[in-house]
Formats: sequence, structure tokens, C-alpha cells
Amino acid sequence: MAVYVHIPFCRTRCHYCAFYLETGFSPRVLRETLSGIIAEAREWMRRLGYPRIHTVYIGGGTPSVIPPDQLEMFLTQLFETLGLAMHEEASEMAATDPDDARASVPDEITIEANPESVTDMFLETLRRTGVDRISLGVQSLFDRELALLGRRSDASTAREAIRRIERSWQGRWSADLIVGTPGQDTGDLSAQIDELSDRGVEHLSLYGLTVEPHTALEQAVRRGSVRMPDREIHETLWIAAKRSAIRRGFHQYEVSNFALRGAESRHNHVYWRLDPYLGLGPGAVSTLPSMVFGQPRALRLTGGSVFSYQSIHRGTLPHEMEVLDNVSFLFEHFMNGLRTAEGVSMERIAKRFGVDPALLCTHLHRHWRGYSQRDRRADPTRTLRLRNGAREVVDSYLAELLGALETWEEAQGLELSWSASSHRNESRRFAGAGAVEHTR
Ligand code: SF4
Repeated sequence: MAVYVHIPFCRTRCHYCAFYLETGFSPRVLRETLSGIIAEAREWMRRLGYPRIHTVYIGGGTPSVIPPDQLEMFLTQLFETLGLAMHEEASEMAATDPDDARASVPDEITIEANPESVTDMFLETLRRTGVDRISLGVQSLFDRELALLGRRSDASTAREAIRRIERSWQGRWSADLIVGTPGQDTGDLSAQIDELSDRGVEHLSLYGLTVEPHTALEQAVRRGSVRMPDREIHETLWIAAKRSAIRRGFHQYEVSNFALRGAESRHNHVYWRLDPYLGLGPGAVSTLPSMVFGQPRALRLTGGSVFSYQSIHRGTLPHEMEVLDNVSFLFEHFMNGLRTAEGVSMERIAKRFGVDPALLCTHLHRHWRGYSQRDRRADPTRTLRLRNGAREVVDSYLAELLGALETWEEAQGLELSWSASSHRNESRRFAGAGAVEHTR
């Protein structure tokens, strides 16, 4: 399974950000939260029967606000708790037990970083602990845009971080850019993508700027001091960014994500395919197999705040819990998968829900407008994929898709078969290792 770790701390809050995080935190709160995450990891590994962890993503917040020596200690403990061997350790293990060594080496460990905290010491800490991918929150290479977004770093700090990565980072790296900042033009976007590509970035995440409730950006828009680009301008910017990325050799493997061939994020695929994932840390979300009154169900857990999280030290896991009904869970497979170039594997759906893909396709064909947007090169009983272009507007079809799934007669008889090991072995029964026992 995959593990996401949420580090809910930032020095200041960006103007557009609505994530759960704390800005005024003391060293004690940071220390206790990190040790709480280790305690939580230990408890979940025990409850889940010590599953093999394939990918880890350490996000936030800003994980790079943790001072390097504390970060090194935290990552070392975390990876040990998750049963991960790093490459040097794995080569020693391989000499005695090759199978054991192979089983414990993760496919990918990513950490998010903001430019102002990318120092040589930070990069060295990552290398020593076995992190092999950095997701750098660049967002823009123009001071005017960075100020408007309320980012802490300016363009020269971002360039310095990129130069450092270029000079001394052996692993993979990705950059985030924001599309649709007020006043942005298509030339600005292309120039930034060209510059990042020249600097060797192999993965780009392009996010459209949205005005979230209760943010500084929302207040500025309401006051009239900031004017967001209208829909048409936003689309023009988006198309320009996408073309620039494609011109530089990136392929769009999900609506917001572009990669050079072979540099796609392995961790992202876990979310899009809805393989089980464990979220650790305040505010983190997990989707896990569970037995509810003897029935297999998907469980969605959301971690509490930094303050409720302190109860972990007293042996309680503070989570909000939602039991997903099978139709909602099936819908999520489409909601996520239809945004990707890979599409939705109907074979996986058939195995997970015990449905006949041909019957489902026939029903969708009759009752879901978006079905006509499918990529006709793929056999829909094996893979349901939208045409390039239709993927970007999939949201406009989702309410109708949910309605179509809810009115499908066969939906009443869905039987979930899904486990923590199901992405490597789909046929393994749900109630096997990796299911959380849950009775209420
Ligand atoms: S750095 Fe990221 S998580 Fe932190 S405030 Fe800014 S957008 Fe939010």
C-alpha cells in the first residue's frame, strides 16, 4: 500500500491556500506532532498486519520547515517503522536474503519542499535517509505573481533552489506551477515552463488558481483589489501551458500532471486507481479496506487537528470516519480514473466490485452523456478512457455519472473485493491481511 504523511506546518499562509495547517507553532508542538506521527505509523502497521509499503509521499504544509537534523531523525524512524530498507541497507540484506531485500525497498519516496528551505544540508539529509524525489513548490518564476499569491520566496530564491537541485541532487524532481494568476499572460507561462525544462525538471504539476472560501485571495477579490481572469482567459492560459509542456517533451498523464516518459509519479497512480492508502499526521486522509458488520467496505478516515492529535500519545487515534457505500466508492474510481490518460481499468472494476463490464458500459452508454466522449480506440469493456480534451471537462459530467451509477440495477448487488495488497494481487480476498476490523 501507499503512505501519505501530512506535515501541517507552514511559516505563513499563502493567499490562496485553504489546506488544514498551522502557522504559529512552537518547537514543542512540532516535536510532539512528529513523534505522534511515528506512534500513529506504528499502530497502523500493527493493525494492518504489516503490509508492504510501495510508495511514500511526505507533503503538507511544508515538510521542509522541519530543521534538517530533526528531519533526518524523523525520516529514519518513519521508514524503519514502515519496514522500508534504503538502498545501501538493501544491498547488505540482499547478500543474505534477496527476497526480503527486494520486498522492503520502496518504489518511490517523495517529499514536498518550498524553495526557501532547499539548502545543501536539506538535500544531503534527503539523500542519507533514502528520499528519492522532490516536489518543489515553485508556483511562479515572476516576483509580481509570487507577491500576489502570498508566497514566501521570490523568483531569485526559487532560481537558487533550482540551481542547487541541478548541481547536487541525484534523484528525481518535480515542480508545481500555478496557472491563472491575475495578470498572467501566455508568454509568461511558456517562458517559465521553458526555463524549468532547461533546468532539467522531469515532472510538472500545473494547477489552476481557484478562489477558495475564507482565504486572503477571496477577501481581496471581494474587496475588488484583485480581479481574477475570466473563464475564457483562464482557458487560453491553460491551453498555452499545456502546449508548452507538450512541446518540451512532457506528456499529460493526468489533467494537472505532465511528465517526461518514465518520470510519472508512482504515488499519484495509487490515488487515481484507488488502491489502499494510509494517511498519517493531522488532517491526513486514508482510504482503507474494512469489515463493517461482516461486510467488506471502504473506510475513509480523516486525521484530526494538531491539538486533537496529541491524544495519540495517550493511545487514541483521532479520526473522523466515513464508511463509503459501494456505489460511492465505484463512482470515485470513475471520478479519479477518467482524469487520467490511462483511464479506468474495467477489468479492475470487474474484480473489485464483481460486475460485468459489458453490462455497466451498456448502461453508461444509455444514461451518461459523458460516455460519448470516450476514446474510441480503447475497448470500453477493458478500459474506459475519455478523449484528450474531454478529460479536462470531466467535472461537468460527474453529477450525471453518479446519477447513472445510482440508477443501475446491478449496483444493488455490488460486492467489494479489495485489500491492502490488492494492487499487486487483485484476486486476493478482501477479508485477508490488511483489512481494518471495524464494527460500528
Ligand atoms: S506553502 Fe503550500 S501548504 Fe503552505 S500555505 Fe502555501 S500553499 Fe498552503
